[in-house]
Amino acid sequence: MKVIQEIKALRRELDPFTDREVGLVPTMGYLHRGHMSLVSAAVNENDRSVVSIFVNPTQFAPNEDLDRYPRDMERDCRLLEAAGVDFVFAPDVREIYPSGFATRISQEILGDHLCGRRRPHHFSGVLTVVAKLLGICHPDRVYFGGKDAQQAVMVSRMIRDLNMDVEMRILPIVRDADGLALSSRNQYLNPRERELALALPRALNAAGKRVKAGERDAGALIREIKEGIARVPGVALEYVELVKLDDLQPVSEVDPGNTLVAAAVRVGATRLIDNFIAGE
Ligand code: AMP
Repeated sequence: MKVIQEIKALRRELDPFTDREVGLVPTMGYLHRGHMSLVSAAVNENDRSVVSIFVNPTQFAPNEDLDRYPRDMERDCRLLEAAGVDFVFAPDVREIYPSGFATRISQEILGDHLCGRRRPHHFSGVLTVVAKLLGICHPDRVYFGGKDAQQAVMVSRMIRDLNMDVEMRILPIVRDADGLALSSRNQYLNPRERELALALPRALNAAGKRVKAGERDAGALIREIKEGIARVPGVALEYVELVKLDDLQPVSEVDPGNTLVAAAVRVGATRLIDNFIAGE
């Protein structure tokens, strides 16, 4: 496995593989089993795999956790090497955003709800860095996790809208045994907060059961999730919404398989998100 910091060097390494399939997994590092499920798929489904590790400053607002975002390059590289990854791309900020960098990708409508409403510049930062990574690596496949569902839908729309020649693979959420979705940010939680955080998957899970039992009314499901979270003091609901999977606009009725139920909470200073596709 080669760890590469420079765009030029990565391109040189990937050049001999233009007629082979390359898979790219974009990450911000501090890897867990959720990331590793994407990595295994990329290794298995392609001739060569690239994992990028880049804590992208343009997707963090000034009051967010950019400076304290967890990092452990050595451990990440050990995990990636053991998984059979070929290249780790770990550029520094100046390599990705040299002075004079002036372009940003914005997307209409899909960022209006869910996390987009609370983090107004976040997805433009995400789309811009993903577009750059695709332009740098020219992968055949790129891998994203369903945990960040709005991100996955918006990237997939960017790929379609801008005719980017890459197959998007979206893989299921990986959870801890008790149901909490794995996230690099879980490590901010102290043991008590970690326990409280279970309110989020539990409330979503209960709503998922209601859908399976035939509930179709979005308002009723939202009420149920709100109540489930309100029962746990110390967990503050930021939003819960039911949206159409393809344009992320609110719906009043569940369309099984096409409705995303997504929520964000704060537990202490930590913001956690989770979701499920109703009826799946
Ligand atoms: P991040 O490092 O948080 O930017 O995440 C990198 C990629 O891993 C994104 O596509 C995430 O959606 C995905 N990911 C993060 N957590 C999970 C999880 N628990 N299950 C599946 N994919 C995940």
